[in-house]
Amino acid sequence: MTKYIFITGGVMSGLGKGMVTCSIGKMLQSRGFTVSAVKCDPYLNVDAGTMNPYIHGEVFVLDDGYEADMDLGAYERFLGIELTRLNNITSGQVYQDIIRRERQGGYLGRCVQIIPHVTDEIKRRIRLVASKTGVDVLLIESGGTVGDIEGLPFLEAFRQMRLEERRGDTLLVHVTLVPVLDAVGEPKTKPTQHSVKELRSIGLQPDIIVARCEAGPLQREQREKIALYCNVEERAVFSSINVNPIYKLPLVLEEQGMGDLLCEYLGLIRRNAEWSEWRRMVERFETPKETVRIAMCGKYAGLADCYVSVNEALRHAAAASGCRAEISWIEAELFEEDPSRVEILSDYDGVLVPGGFGERGTEGKIRAIEYCRTRDIPFLGICYGLQLSIVEISRHLLNLQGAHTTECDPKTPHPVIDLLPEQKGLTDMGGTMRLGSLPVKIKPGTIAHRLYGSELIHERHRHRWEVNPAYWEMLEEAGVVFSGWSPDGKRVEIIELPRNLFFMATQFHPEFKSRPWSPSPPYYGFVKASLENKLKERKR
Ligand code: GLN
Repeated sequence: MTKYIFITGGVMSGLGKGMVTCSIGKMLQSRGFTVSAVKCDPYLNVDAGTMNPYIHGEVFVLDDGYEADMDLGAYERFLGIELTRLNNITSGQVYQDIIRRERQGGYLGRCVQIIPHVTDEIKRRIRLVASKTGVDVLLIESGGTVGDIEGLPFLEAFRQMRLEERRGDTLLVHVTLVPVLDAVGEPKTKPTQHSVKELRSIGLQPDIIVARCEAGPLQREQREKIALYCNVEERAVFSSINVNPIYKLPLVLEEQGMGDLLCEYLGLIRRNAEWSEWRRMVERFETPKETVRIAMCGKYAGLADCYVSVNEALRHAAAASGCRAEISWIEAELFEEDPSRVEILSDYDGVLVPGGFGERGTEGKIRAIEYCRTRDIPFLGICYGLQLSIVEISRHLLNLQGAHTTECDPKTPHPVIDLLPEQKGLTDMGGTMRLGSLPVKIKPGTIAHRLYGSELIHERHRHRWEVNPAYWEMLEEAGVVFSGWSPDGKRVEIIELPRNLFFMATQFHPEFKSRPWSPSPPYYGFVKASLENKLKERKR
């Protein structure tokens, strides 16, 4: 029988509710319990696939090709589990299903309503994950903030489930903010009180409160106050503080006694928590011997969340290499205005061009790739980064003037990157890219083979364009090694330039499968080479 922990957020977004959810999962796992996590997103999009990552954060791709909210990425990275499309419930999916059923006559004679039809569908989907996974505890995080109109049906569904499940089999954890105003310097508990009042007005009483406090852990006095006004035990008020690396948060909450309290409240057998391996992993992040400076070169990304998985993959690879990755974002358009500015890349130990869409900034990225290739600066290209490497090499090594991807220039004389054949004529934008985990055959004797240590791997994809087969031969003659292929030999998956210290690009997104204890091979190879590059520079 699965038990349920609901996680809601109060006061405002961006409090690290997802990180608290991950930490709860980790505390349970460290006691030998199995967990899975569901994210409920109240927006009307069916999935995150069509949303702008510069506004909503990264689109995280699952094995099954589902384009998920980025919190699912955090769940996978912390908990070491693989999720499916069932783990992300959006209002869009729920309404789409209900309206389809209504048109088919599934509700004949009845008026279809938010309660019970929408809430029933939400509960059905949550319980489906419990029954499919059979985990001991299922975590259900609701997106948004308590008080949002669109989030209400989800919270109502949680309320109903708490009544329907056996008493003691569900738990509600509320994550709030305790701000400290500079002028007074005193932590303020009022916003927390208000958000709990809001929750209680819709019939939800939290069992545990996790307060995000940037100024350091809450004092006894504030915990007592929150307990009294929010109707929870004082020992059920926890502090979520800023930690680096983020993988320390479960340890911080564990030290406050949260793991044992979760078990006690849920009536789980009290077991000792085993943290030694996790601690060792965290230590690797905390004791770097070197720093590698990595330039991420792309379209301006004001939102740090836009490339979380890439950033994390770099950090995982760095920790595994005994160093720390200092990641700087470089706006590619700078090199378009003044091509000589590309010289700033020589200040970095390695350059990464991440995935992307559309024309803006592409010429700047191509310039950056050319600089790395000709100056032998370690380079990793991801997806669009691979495609633009092929454009760069075609223009400058093969002398194919005007070579481009048809994504940017449909009339290019040399469409070295072209739409996948199965993409031609598609009209729907949602969920129609080449998506998810697909097998990739690795060519023996290549860098990719050395890094993966295998001739068959699986990585996650999200693209519509590919290397045009008409140019394969020319590219190979110019020294490009296609070290990864789709098993049918129809798709290029990895390219490398063995002449360089490290020049590799992948059509897939290896960052999605990177874990803090097991870095993604291409990222690991890239960071290692960047470190080598740095040490070589120092000798000079
Ligand atoms: N825009 C390119 C494509 O669709 C690359 C996509 C990406 O980088 N994820 O193929």
